[in-house]
Amino acid sequence: MKTTDATVLEEPKARRRATEETIEPAIESRPRPSTGVREAKIYIDGKFYSEANAKVSVFDHGLLYGDGIFEGIRFYNGRVFRLEQHLERLWNSARSICLDIPMTRQEMTEALLETIRQNHLRDGYIRLVVTRGVGNLGLNPEQCKNPSVIIIVATIALYHEDFYRKGLSIVTVATRRSNPASLNPAVKSLNYLNNVMARIEGNLASADEALMLNDAGNVAECTADNIFIIKHGQIFTPPITAGALQGITRSVVFDIAGEFDIKVIEADFTRHDIFVADECFLTGTAAEIVPVVKADGRLIGDGKPGPITMRIVARFRDMTHNTGTPIFD
Ligand code: PMP
Repeated sequence: MKTTDATVLEEPKARRRATEETIEPAIESRPRPSTGVREAKIYIDGKFYSEANAKVSVFDHGLLYGDGIFEGIRFYNGRVFRLEQHLERLWNSARSICLDIPMTRQEMTEALLETIRQNHLRDGYIRLVVTRGVGNLGLNPEQCKNPSVIIIVATIALYHEDFYRKGLSIVTVATRRSNPASLNPAVKSLNYLNNVMARIEGNLASADEALMLNDAGNVAECTADNIFIIKHGQIFTPPITAGALQGITRSVVFDIAGEFDIKVIEADFTRHDIFVADECFLTGTAAEIVPVVKADGRLIGDGKPGPITMRIVARFRDMTHNTGTPIFD
């Protein structure tokens, strides 16, 4: 697949007229999305579109049913961080929901790198989406013959630097992490309503993030991050079977802890274990590694980011800025 040759920034005139007369006013009356990138180019199925023209069908089952998968990926200093791991997880999600990604991993890598190059960024965030594609209004995926691949590159600043220095607060919400026997949280699917509902509850409680328990009442994860606690020098995180995503940043923490000779134990734990932990932090591609200093109104440790957490954060920053798949030759 040649991504550069396929660059299409202008739609054909005939189609443009129809677009302006019919679809455009409805779209324009809503807030404009923004990647934060000047003259951003968005990849859809082998072609590049301007932000205003990057559109998918209302019959795409990604929209109608949340039927699809995605990855959030970061690039730092001209290199994509842990790209192979993200693609591995994407392909695993696809296999789990019987979705055929319409390109090879090598082609996906090329498309992704080319999209970043087209947007002239050295640091940023990539949203890689594969939808089931266009079907009819029935939910049967057999109607959808051509899955769509979308790659959006954006600038990112999720949390203000203060959060990394001072830590954030979390609250446990009533919405439980979806049971792996229904919608498995290990699949990074487009169906994020479970997380969105938890986030709404977190917002209503004025917390920085919402913590979700599983059906057994054990800690699963936050709405977009994995959770870790530290007690007596050991690091604990819920196992994937507790309803946690196999986070890429989570796995980086395992690597860093190995370097530091600190044990990471995957074990079920409860809110109580967070309350009495010495330290706590969250991990996610967008959030990176961020200390937690308050849970359900209780201060964790002395209410300040802990020393082991800060060592891990420092090593993580070093890794993100010095390793990864080069974007430019
Ligand atoms: N849990 C959920 C529900 C997520 O959406 C994410 C990704 N933002 C994570 C955990 C963290 O995973 P990763 O480190 O791979 O970004």
